Amino acid sequence: MQKQTIQKVAIIGGTHGNELTGVYLAKKWIADNTEVQRENFAIEIFYANPEATDIMKRYVNQDLNRSFALADIQNPTLTNHEQTRAKELNTKIGPKDAKNPAYDFMIDMHSSTSNLGTNIIITDNDPYSLLVAGLMQEKDPSITITIGFEDRMEQPYITSLTPHAITLELGPIPQGVLRADTLKKMKDAMQNALDVIEALNNTDDFPDMSLSVYEMKRTLDYPKDANGNIIATIHPDREGGEFAEIKVGDPLFMDFDENTIYYEGDPAYTYFINEAAYYEKGIACMLVEKKVINI
Ligand SMILES: [Zn+2]
Repeated sequence: MQKQTIQKVAIIGGTHGNELTGVYLAKKWIADNTEVQRENFAIEIFYANPEATDIMKRYVNQDLNRSFALADIQNPTLTNHEQTRAKELNTKIGPKDAKNPAYDFMIDMHSSTSNLGTNIIITDNDPYSLLVAGLMQEKDPSITITIGFEDRMEQPYITSLTPHAITLELGPIPQGVLRADTLKKMKDAMQNALDVIEALNNTDDFPDMSLSVYEMKRTLDYPKDANGNIIATIHPDREGGEFAEIKVGDPLFMDFDENTIYYEGDPAYTYFINEAAYYEKGIACMLVEKKVINI
């Protein structure tokens, strides 16, 4: 693929206020960024939503990481806390629709209550971002890569502010909790990403690559009654089964009388199982498909 040189990397923590791994690493690196500095590109750390962390919630008024669609950040009538913050971050990091935004790469640090391990999400069909993810996976084969491509201008995610970006999702860890092992895993993933970008800036050899990824297909909601009350939760055999195959007849949910509800649908792999933040979104788990893509 074509050589790409990265000039400025935006490192984001606390896009979700109660995902403390990213919050505290952002604070640490704002105080002293030696650990994340590199020779051949500039970095800046952004603590995305401190007001949400102050109340130890994902957000104040609405999910910040669903507030970056171009039409929304350009709409002057949208003025709640996160809508305003999205506009500020767009001015500092983008502008999103600029030919040369202030930053050309973003790493956004998240954590999950689901058993994700170290997972990279890429939502833009961008060969450079995919190459970074692939080279990170070569260095650390435990890393998984999930793709779900959408038009960058329409995407509501913070990563859509820059032309190239990855989201890091680490789990499982509860909301509002810090753990040394998760902090270490996030630091390792960050060092890996920054090392890969630094090495790519130093070479003209941009390899063609085959990537093993999981592609987002659809979401499944919890079984609910006519009033919208949840009547079953994830089956114990499926709990923690990130990237495990699921096929017709496999246990998926268990109701409160301990009756099993079985999966009906095409074979797939389960992802983001029982994520605490997704109850309000009506998502019990996501279904992904395993595939190989060439970049
Ligand atoms: Zn998050």
